Amino acid sequence: MTADVVIVGCGPVGAFLAGELRLAGVRVVVLERAAAPTVHSRAFRLQTRTLELLDLRGLLDRFVADAVKIPKTHFAAIRPPLLDLDLLDSEHPYTLGIPQARTEAYLAEHATGLGAEIRRGHEVTGVEQTDDRVVLQVSSPAGRYSLAADYVVGCDGGRSVVRKTAEIGFPGSPGTVSALLGDVTLADPAAFPSGIPGTLRTRSGLVMAVAMPDTGIRVFTCEFDRPVPDRDAPVTMEELRAAVARVTGTEIEMTAPTWLARFTDASRVVDRFHSGRVFLAGDAAHVHFPIGAQGLNLGIQDAMNLGWKLAGRIHGWAPDDLLDSYDRERRPAADRVVLETRAQLALMNSDERIDPLREVFRELLAIDEVNRHLSRMLTGLDARYAPAAGAHPLVGQLFPPLRLCTADGPVRVADLLRTGRPVLVDPGDDPSVAAVAAGWRDRVDVVTARQEGGATLGGLLIRPDGYVAWAATPGGEPAAAESSLPAALATWFGRATAAVR
Ligand SMILES: Cc1cc2nc3c(=O)[nH]c(=O)nc-3n(C[C@H](O)[C@H](O)[C@H](O)COP(=O)(O)OP(=O)(O)OC[C@H]3O[C@@H](n4cnc5c(N)ncnc54)[C@H](O)[C@@H]3O)c2cc1C
Repeated sequence: MTADVVIVGCGPVGAFLAGELRLAGVRVVVLERAAAPTVHSRAFRLQTRTLELLDLRGLLDRFVADAVKIPKTHFAAIRPPLLDLDLLDSEHPYTLGIPQARTEAYLAEHATGLGAEIRRGHEVTGVEQTDDRVVLQVSSPAGRYSLAADYVVGCDGGRSVVRKTAEIGFPGSPGTVSALLGDVTLADPAAFPSGIPGTLRTRSGLVMAVAMPDTGIRVFTCEFDRPVPDRDAPVTMEELRAAVARVTGTEIEMTAPTWLARFTDASRVVDRFHSGRVFLAGDAAHVHFPIGAQGLNLGIQDAMNLGWKLAGRIHGWAPDDLLDSYDRERRPAADRVVLETRAQLALMNSDERIDPLREVFRELLAIDEVNRHLSRMLTGLDARYAPAAGAHPLVGQLFPPLRLCTADGPVRVADLLRTGRPVLVDPGDDPSVAAVAAGWRDRVDVVTARQEGGATLGGLLIRPDGYVAWAATPGGEPAAAESSLPAALATWFGRATAAVR
């Protein structure tokens, strides 16, 4: 056994998961097919929920220092009005403009800094599991070898070999649109028909343009009634020029492409997020049209959900059901992104019958409550994991951005989660809280702290991924036993240690 967990794929999701597992003391090897990190950036936006999660691990400042905060974004290329992220109830009410290549580099550096081993140029060609381990077949520059692990996580992208060999189904809808991307130099950026940044929707399709930090102007085209080409057919500059001309009716001078690619709107979610000892995260588990900048974000949120649960199983304290909760919690989040991206694409269709619908949406977006609803959907803030019956309304949500006073001074809740361990915030009013928590003190940190500005909570148990496992009002416990503190501790962190049970 050379690793507790092998991660296949060192894209953003694999790299982030490796960091999470190392934080929890798990031995992890990451196998990456590509010999060197990619310089091309599919994604260029990080969303609010991801920023909140990076903040929990103390990583956010590094990302912010090198990126642009963008407080508004579009829904279905309708502008105006834009989605106003300032309306969000978050410490980070913006999206962050940062190329994927940089995100991947920072996350890989974080993981290796914590002791993860990343083997580049190592391609997984086969995965076989038995009751007690998984064996991978690997092709590397030094030859073929096999590697055994307790668990394998496929973070190997939309065409995942891990998913296929584990025979996990990938139901959904096939691609219907023909979309191209080119990072290019424009002879006259000011004359680009959509504006930059901007979108032009015509009877022939859609063109979008945005300035990339490192690679010139990114031009997208999307055509709704052309044959869907083979995903692997190389894209030429001529093909991009022709698509732009068809959609805009203008010949645009574009040169010096640093990257040309094609994509489509295939939308799929796996029928299970794991099969035995094989798990999937990121694009390996879900794909959708890349509108609204969400795939990478969704995958990082998968990894945050899975890391501590897998670590709990490896360290032997995870309750039987804990790993199943990964599928239960992340499938609805993936389904929701597929729903919303399909809705956006339908609204962007060039058919004139869509025009009235866009006008209605334009009016709706001007209503703050609707604007906030769609912003929460797009940024991942509306993810809520199903709470136990009778639980406090905060349970299943990310922790509220409270400021706390401890004996050592003020602290943000986010700062308490740097170590990746669960935290019980105990205001100290009810001695039974500390007494109960004593049974889990090897796994759960207890912080005695009061809320700044008057108490609205009588206690808060936060999972390592930042989601609330239990909360109480200042008067004490909610009535239902299944939503009590001991029940929440046992549900998420296993049995109390014998000495205090
Ligand atoms: C045009 C475009 C724009 C986008 N913009 C955004 C955006 O702004 N925001 C956003 O959140 N998302 C965006 N996305 C989506 C985002 O790029 C993906 O969701 C994200 O890359 C998924 O990360 P991942 O780690 O799951 O998979 P990937 O990034 O695909 O990484 C998979 C890794 O696995 C490796 N691998 C594959 N097979 C093997 C194997 N057999 N053995 C070993 N290694 C293997 C690959 O080499 C790769 O490094 C965009 C996508 C597109 C196409």
